[in-house]
Amino acid sequence: MKNLGINTRIVHSDRSFGVEHGGVRKPIHTSVQYGFDTVEELVGVFQGSVKGYNYARQGTPTTAALEARINALEGGVGTICFATGMAAICATFLTLLKAGDHLVVSQFVFGNTNSVLGTLRDFGVQVSTVDATRAAAVAEALQPNTRMVFVETVANPGTQVADLAAIGQLCRDKALVYVVDNTVTSPALFQPRTVGASLVINSLTKTIGGHGTALGGAVTDTGQFNWANYPNIFEPYRKGEARQWGLVQIRKKGLRDMGGALSSEHAHTLGSGAETLALRQKQSSETALALAQFLEAHPAIAKVHYPMLPSHPQHALATQLFTSGSWLLSFELANAEDCLAFINRLTIPTVGTGLADTRSLVIPVATTIFWEAGAAVRAQMGIGDGLIRFSVGLEDLADLQADFAQALG
Ligand SMILES: *Cc1c(COP(=O)(O)O)cnc(C)c1O
Repeated sequence: MKNLGINTRIVHSDRSFGVEHGGVRKPIHTSVQYGFDTVEELVGVFQGSVKGYNYARQGTPTTAALEARINALEGGVGTICFATGMAAICATFLTLLKAGDHLVVSQFVFGNTNSVLGTLRDFGVQVSTVDATRAAAVAEALQPNTRMVFVETVANPGTQVADLAAIGQLCRDKALVYVVDNTVTSPALFQPRTVGASLVINSLTKTIGGHGTALGGAVTDTGQFNWANYPNIFEPYRKGEARQWGLVQIRKKGLRDMGGALSSEHAHTLGSGAETLALRQKQSSETALALAQFLEAHPAIAKVHYPMLPSHPQHALATQLFTSGSWLLSFELANAEDCLAFINRLTIPTVGTGLADTRSLVIPVATTIFWEAGAAVRAQMGIGDGLIRFSVGLEDLADLQADFAQALG
């Protein structure tokens, strides 16, 4: 499917290994247990010599179909799906890092990812947070015990863009695992494989699922990291093709042992949502750019954060890397005190948390999603008291713009 366009790949990639009874869509396999004609087959599945399923915590035919779809989109050598994006991120950290290792993370990451860093420190992993918009900041943080670098493509809520290609080159030179969270851009706008990412994270809850009706997460291995030289791979997983070792360890230790398994029902919902990924991304990116331009020109607005605006600090980087700017934008009112009243005056977007729904979602950042993080983290991330995050949905631009115009007064 490699040479086909993205829409063709999305709609057909769950059929690459056949669909039961000729069904056009992969069915929802609800069975937790799997039975075999002979005990030898059961033994083979346990030992990995026979392909198959034994217990749904490690995957079902329905979650496997979604994994194939995400894998085709990211151009990987394998993908594992999880119950949430956070389960995918935690499984990656906890299975590949040990006490005494050092991890470098962008200071501009999803709030709950930032919260996990505290847990890792407690377990004896050293963590440095750096301004990942500059590869030099990552280079300066490296230590002899650095194993992994973790960044997001476009950060939420400030829309900072990591210096993705230069960090990729650095990780290649130093043989570090390079993990890129592609949630905001999604493979429709950017494939982290192209900048040397070893592992790609997607919260399927957001852009890929797209409808706010199911949680899910995924880790994709791009096949570019040589796990043969990675010291933290457990002995039983050091067999077969070395480029699969990392993923085998994440599936066994991260999915099987930690248990954040995706249900078949949700895999099916996410897979259906994914079929319109590229269409939704195109529409919401166009609307987001137009809204960003409208807001930037409005006298009641102090600042707009959107990567495709020429005023954005990483605008050049963003236009080089991404085909469009995605659905995330944030802005500050000239009168920060009016932030909550302004949100109440909006009539179309849903006032609430969450991202990449079909409906636009609006939230004041400092008093909600970054409240627990505290003032110091907010300052480091450039989150002012009046920052408003807007996740652009599929509504018509004219309606959203008119709503903003009336709410801004
Ligand atoms: C939402 C989000 C996550 C976590 O995903 P869940 O599915 O909500 O657990 C991780 N990274 C980013 C960038 C996100 O926006």
